[in-house]
Amino acid sequence: MNLMYHSTRNSNIRATASQAILQGLSPDGGLFVPESIPQLTKSIDELAGMNYRELAYEVLSLYLTDYTQEEIKDCISKAYDHKFDSPDIAPLYKAGGVHYLELFHGATIAFKDMALSILPHLLTTAARKNNISDEIVILTATSGDTGKAALAGFADVEGTKIIVFYPKDGVSSVQEKQMVTQKGDNTYVIGIRGNFDDAQTGVKKIFGDKDLEERMSKAGYRFSSANSINIGRLLPQIIYYFHSYVELYRRKEIIEGEHINFVVPTGNFGNILAAYYAKQMGLPVGKLICASNDNKVLFDFFQTGVYDRKREFILTISPSMDILVSSNLERLLYHIAGDDASKTKELMEALSSRGRYEITPDMRKNLEDFVGGYATINETSATIHKVYTEAKYVIDTHTAVATSVYEKYIDKDKDRVKTVIVATASPYKFAESVLNAIGIKELPNDDYEQAVLLREISGIEIPVAVEEIHRAEIRHKIVCETDEMKTEVEEILKII
Ligand SMILES: *Cc1c(COP(=O)(O)O)cnc(C)c1O
Repeated sequence: MNLMYHSTRNSNIRATASQAILQGLSPDGGLFVPESIPQLTKSIDELAGMNYRELAYEVLSLYLTDYTQEEIKDCISKAYDHKFDSPDIAPLYKAGGVHYLELFHGATIAFKDMALSILPHLLTTAARKNNISDEIVILTATSGDTGKAALAGFADVEGTKIIVFYPKDGVSSVQEKQMVTQKGDNTYVIGIRGNFDDAQTGVKKIFGDKDLEERMSKAGYRFSSANSINIGRLLPQIIYYFHSYVELYRRKEIIEGEHINFVVPTGNFGNILAAYYAKQMGLPVGKLICASNDNKVLFDFFQTGVYDRKREFILTISPSMDILVSSNLERLLYHIAGDDASKTKELMEALSSRGRYEITPDMRKNLEDFVGGYATINETSATIHKVYTEAKYVIDTHTAVATSVYEKYIDKDKDRVKTVIVATASPYKFAESVLNAIGIKELPNDDYEQAVLLREISGIEIPVAVEEIHRAEIRHKIVCETDEMKTEVEEILKII
């Protein structure tokens, strides 16, 4: 039997896995969720005999029930290959008594590679299965890392075009260079004068534009999304939670069934939601610690049950988490409301009309798995410094938010459960902030020279991704206002 997906805002809008992946966002603006969360019935001991690709198959085959076995295996082997510079795909590194799950060994050295290296294959397979001959246009808003990971995933993938919008002044210089040097005839990168939320709102608006959709369809195009609102982004992220548990088991750090905690540096709530799904599938997980930076809207939500986006947007040194509307939280709301689509719809309408909502006491009770925490810019820097001096391990600014939150958590709660900190980016991606935090005086201005300095300090080779942009030519130069985003899309697709 097929596992069906439906909208978080209307249970009557249903889709198979491949249809949900193709559509990205549900037509009513909701997000696709599985009608039930499948259980992984294999024992940890059995899973311990598997490599990353085999484990990926175990997880994905439970969700992608309208894909054939061969299709799923084909997507997996195209995604998790030598693009990753570690045979483990997602290695665990022990430092200072905790384990770091390094999700930055893919093409763009940030965790979004974990899902975006497979999404293009899931999507083109889905198009084939559903007899879609339209060209798929991926439209993406990025706070820095999604954009590059999506561009790398989709570049020159036949039957697709990809258009990425990013906040011109809201990403790191390495992030921007990575994007504007992207090769591939089907890639388009545009800076906007606004922040990430403006970019995301603009993209959502374009997705919801019926008139545009009709004109696109006449011209042989259809939109899809590579943002973490696409269920095809979320599902591959479940894999590495199982992988890290199994790896701890293989290392005899834990016994089968022992609970572990995860600390996840959070922005759009996609990564930590995948951990929640892993727990619901039967993985022995204790607390899910949701770490925010100064944009601590999620921390406040876990404290009070009120989500309030009406606040100042703060630019931090962890830009991929500078987000005030965490889109994937909608999926969690749906589940903690007891899979109640009308309740979710009501809350989402309140968010868009009043900028805030409050969940019910019953829903709050279902949030017990979560702990919210946040770290300021200063705390983040101090943590990078501390981990470097005490453990000789260099972490990036996003991972440092998680470490700082974790340290505050164990100080207060004395929870001694084994913990995995999810390391979401390579320090090379945020070299300037990392070097500053370590206390290097007189930094060179040039990104590459900073990377060379970081190599001396960390002893870790400069990743290929950084070597590449060092020499690459800038191919994308357009910058537009937020209200010009639609026109830019029309011009690219020549449907004015
Ligand atoms: C995207 C990103 C995050 C936030 O992940 P979400 O799934 O959006 O919560 C954290 N760290 C880095 C480096 C990222 O790129």
